[in-house]
Amino acid sequence: MLIALVDQKLVDAQDAARRNDYCCPACHETVILHHGTRVQPYFAHKSLGDCAVATEGETQQHVLGKRQLAEFFRGWGPVTLEKILPKIQQRADCWVARDHPVAVEFQCSPISSEQVAQRTAGYRQLGVYPCWLLGERFARQKIGWSLIDRFASPLRGWGLCLLFWDVGRQQIRLIHHLYQDATGTYGYWQSWVASLAELEVGNQRRLWIPPINVRQFRHDLDQKLLRATPALRPLQETLYLHGHHLAGFPTVFVTQRVTPPLFGQGLLVWRAVVGAWMFALRGEVLTPATVERLAEQGLALIGGHLQAGRFDGKEGLARAQHDFVQDLVNGGYFVRVKTGWQINAEPQWAADYTAWLKNDEKKLG
Ligand SMILES: [Zn+2]
Repeated sequence: MLIALVDQKLVDAQDAARRNDYCCPACHETVILHHGTRVQPYFAHKSLGDCAVATEGETQQHVLGKRQLAEFFRGWGPVTLEKILPKIQQRADCWVARDHPVAVEFQCSPISSEQVAQRTAGYRQLGVYPCWLLGERFARQKIGWSLIDRFASPLRGWGLCLLFWDVGRQQIRLIHHLYQDATGTYGYWQSWVASLAELEVGNQRRLWIPPINVRQFRHDLDQKLLRATPALRPLQETLYLHGHHLAGFPTVFVTQRVTPPLFGQGLLVWRAVVGAWMFALRGEVLTPATVERLAEQGLALIGGHLQAGRFDGKEGLARAQHDFVQDLVNGGYFVRVKTGWQINAEPQWAADYTAWLKNDEKKLG
């Protein structure tokens, strides 16, 4: 920690003289000033009690980063280092005082999604916007659900983002416009942000989404099914009950659309299961409520989520649902009726990947 209490005043470690009566502003236990020639000065609890805000084993990266961030965010208002918030028993690494205060968390140590959710909820309770900037440990991780669930949040002009603070460059490495393509692959863009002005201006680049290769995707699904990949088993079992093969989904199900990054194994397999369920209801009217229920069940089956830590997937799922039905109407498979949709024709499933391939080559030839 950088701030300690002495003579009822807060002192910054870099301005602190050597004395032995410093204490922690939160728990009032004794803290020791560490001050070397090569390390950033900092305070540490003499003994680890049950201090609510103690983060012992704080790295030099964290200590240095906090100071850099205090500097970075100064343009938004007066910054306080290590602001203690007794009401929620939390300590913000940097606190930016403004109409809507910002709590900056420079996260360098491991943290569970429950802890992130709890701290985020604490800040929300105070009407504070929590801004998580991730350190090296997280920068080495693959961009995937684990990071997205805990830390991704929407930022004006940047879509859904993950923010990393690079201590060496003293810049934000911004992973923005996070999405999943229809094969379930996570996509994003990266920008270096050197100032608050650049952050506020938002993305200035043209974003181009690479198209998916559906033939390759069918082939990969087929291979995974042959290897009995556990994640695909519930999907294939569901489709098997309807006499279908996952890799043989109908061409009308194919889409180049993308989803928010909580779609588990992706939009195409979601369409395969939801499609199989909908067409099993031939002779009935598919009401919006039925479609919605199947859409949610499908999302659960493909390992997707309706909710992440800091954004939810309801709108994304509603869009996926709407687009799918629209594609089926446009293809002549669904007909709009007063209370919903009726099945007009059945799309063709291939028996498996090999059968699909033969069919496809015939069409091409
Ligand atoms: Zn303490």
